[in-house]
Amino acid sequence: MSALQNNLNAIKERIHQAAIACGRSAQDIKLLAVSKTFPAEDVRDAHSLGQTCFGENYVQEGVAKVLELKDLRSSLEWHFIGPIQSNKSKDVAENFDWVHSIDRIKIAQRLNDQRPSHLPPLEVCVQVNISGETSKSGIQPDDLLDICQKISDMPHLHLRGLMSIPEPTDDVQSQRKSHQQLRELLSQLQKSTALDHQKIQLDTLSMGMSSDIEAAIAEGSTMVRVGTAIFGKRTYL
Ligand SMILES: *Cc1c(COP(=O)(O)O)cnc(C)c1O
Repeated sequence: MSALQNNLNAIKERIHQAAIACGRSAQDIKLLAVSKTFPAEDVRDAHSLGQTCFGENYVQEGVAKVLELKDLRSSLEWHFIGPIQSNKSKDVAENFDWVHSIDRIKIAQRLNDQRPSHLPPLEVCVQVNISGETSKSGIQPDDLLDICQKISDMPHLHLRGLMSIPEPTDDVQSQRKSHQQLRELLSQLQKSTALDHQKIQLDTLSMGMSSDIEAAIAEGSTMVRVGTAIFGKRTYL
């Protein structure tokens, strides 16, 4: 068995066990394989092993891979999960199926305006900077309702939920606390009468990475974003 196949099996088993441990079904948790820094051929191999959803962080690298794997396009789901600069938003709007990292209204508006009309609406999550995070990306929780309202009025974006990248920590209780905060924010939005729920579908909590999928699943994650545990250690040039 290849290392890739081994890793994919192992991560699926972790998802399965984590789901069982909290009384959830593993089917409700989507595995996003984060292929950033790895070549298109690795994506092709993972696809041949049944993996269909892939995440990319860097626009140029991601678009190059999408184009290189054009022959598989209809059976792949491409997710953009990295920071988006204004001058790169068009490439994202034209090439990806999902965007998890919307944290400014301006970027949402550009993605909406640049989404080609022959494609279905872009599925999007808003990235939230939950408390204690030192990273600059992610919207503050106080600004969340406003951006969600604005996105729900954008016809080429389809709001699906929230995403976060908590500070890395080995402490499972701290991991759970961050994930719980995101879950509570989604739950508030789901109940909010200030949103037009006909236009949106708040079913997605994009949280959990290689080292904290168990904590994320225990707190309700519906999509885990796993790079290292599938493709191996990244080497940045
Ligand atoms: C790189 C990355 C991941 C995957 O992280 P691993 O620890 O390698 O599993 C997940 N989400 C985002 C936003 C990333 O940038």
